[in-house]
Amino acid sequence: MSKTFDVVVIGAGPAGYIGAIRAAQHGLSVACIDEWQNKDGKNAFGGTCLNAGCIPSKALLESSELYHRAEHEFKKHGIKVGGVDMDIAAMQKRRAGIVRQLTGGIAGLFKAAGVEGLIGHGRLLKDRKVEFTPRDGDKEIIEAKHVILASGSAPIELKIAPFDHEQIIDSWDALELDAVPQRLGVVGAGVIGLELGSVWARLGSEVTVLEAMEDFLFMADRDVARVAAKEFKKQGLDIKLGAKVGKASAGKKGVKVEYEDKDGAQTLEVDKLIVAVGRRPVTGDLFADDAGIQLDERGFIVVDDECRTRVKGVFAIGDCVRGPMLAHKGSEEGVMAADLIAGEIAEMNYDVIPSVLYTSPEIAWTGKTEAEVKESGRAYKTGQFPFAASGRAKAMEQTAGFVKIISSEDDDEVLGVHIVGPMAGELISEAVLALEFSASTEDIQRTIHAHPSLAEAVHEAALAVDNKALNFPNK
Ligand SMILES: Cc1cc2nc3c(=O)[nH]c(=O)nc-3n(C[C@H](O)[C@H](O)[C@H](O)COP(=O)(O)OP(=O)(O)OC[C@H]3O[C@@H](n4cnc5c(N)ncnc54)[C@H](O)[C@@H]3O)c2cc1C
Repeated sequence: MSKTFDVVVIGAGPAGYIGAIRAAQHGLSVACIDEWQNKDGKNAFGGTCLNAGCIPSKALLESSELYHRAEHEFKKHGIKVGGVDMDIAAMQKRRAGIVRQLTGGIAGLFKAAGVEGLIGHGRLLKDRKVEFTPRDGDKEIIEAKHVILASGSAPIELKIAPFDHEQIIDSWDALELDAVPQRLGVVGAGVIGLELGSVWARLGSEVTVLEAMEDFLFMADRDVARVAAKEFKKQGLDIKLGAKVGKASAGKKGVKVEYEDKDGAQTLEVDKLIVAVGRRPVTGDLFADDAGIQLDERGFIVVDDECRTRVKGVFAIGDCVRGPMLAHKGSEEGVMAADLIAGEIAEMNYDVIPSVLYTSPEIAWTGKTEAEVKESGRAYKTGQFPFAASGRAKAMEQTAGFVKIISSEDDDEVLGVHIVGPMAGELISEAVLALEFSASTEDIQRTIHAHPSLAEAVHEAALAVDNKALNFPNK
């Protein structure tokens, strides 16, 4: 007899595992199927985010940041450490340990919530049946009242620079390098390319980033992009804009990259080349032809604002559907889908999803950029406060960057907050809350912020919107 569950989730990345746990919290019977295998052949829950994305990249960013600071900043603090040395094997062991702890933690969370974690391949059939092929064992059919597809995404491979996973590598390979490449090329100056480029540059690689677009960080506010470009340049990241890669070939002496920029044909020779030009939704063998699931022209599963597919009772969430490919976006969609399945009212505010680049300085924003507000035709005002005027930032020796707030001229509503500077990824949460609650600049102005804290820069930027900044001259 086939097993029956109220909810079957396919995929245990941050979208799927959170959706599964939330559904179980509603008292529903839940199974979550996942086939992720790490490079050692072992299965692990957590998807890209925990195994090959957010978490391992942040572990290495932290290690490389500490190494960089020990080399370049400790002296200023009056700390003498002698020659600073690096042990990549130990750094990678720490990274792998963090990943193992967190992915293992999901199995524990499933157990505590009563979610049945199933290791193997899931495929949606007609009428909400799911074919489950265990890693070791025979296929079985699972009946589900509701199905959540959360199959995630994978790196885009370029035909002109195919991955050999040795010299031409993807983001996952780049997180598991066992030596610092002397010369590192990165194709793509997006979030992933910049974060990975930063890690290896801080550890000593000569890093060249090739970006086809002319605008640096086109999705960010222009003021932020300008400061970020300056800071990355200071750190030695050579970012070439308008550089269109034509071909990359790996050989004994390294990787030869041929590209074109405004001055014509160029060649770059590197030891390793990371191709980080974006990610594509994973939907191969996820559903049968007659299951009724539709894909859009870019391969994403078609869903409405509530993540419902065209098939009754089947939802799709996370990187395999439209919207930014971010873990927290997928997780919130998982919560929404589970709540809707349980009969609750739930919705997602796609307008305030925070974006963060964990570079140094960090970059974070939520809401609209100044260019977007201008284009909307709404009258607006802006305020900025530089970290150079923040006591806490000075004490941290991290004074590059600023907080910028954009508010509407008519009703003072906060429309966008943009931060480049220390702990921007943490500071942005206050801004997300403000936008979620449709707060006004005055709400932030009248909120007490601890002193001395980096968050005071958010407070001062809100004051600056009305020329009332107290610790920096107004416009
Ligand atoms: C280097 C890097 C750094 C990143 N850093 C950040 C960051 O700092 N912050 C952030 O928000 N985002 C970050 N991301 C993006 C983030 O990892 C993704 O947005 C997130 O993992 C998407 O979650 P998901 O659950 O939709 O998919 P995934 O995490 O990709 O998980 C999908 C899971 O489904 C499984 N699966 C797929 N098909 C099947 C099937 N048919 N049967 C069984 N199992 C299946 C896969 O094996 C996988 O385990 C980063 C990504 C990368 C690559």
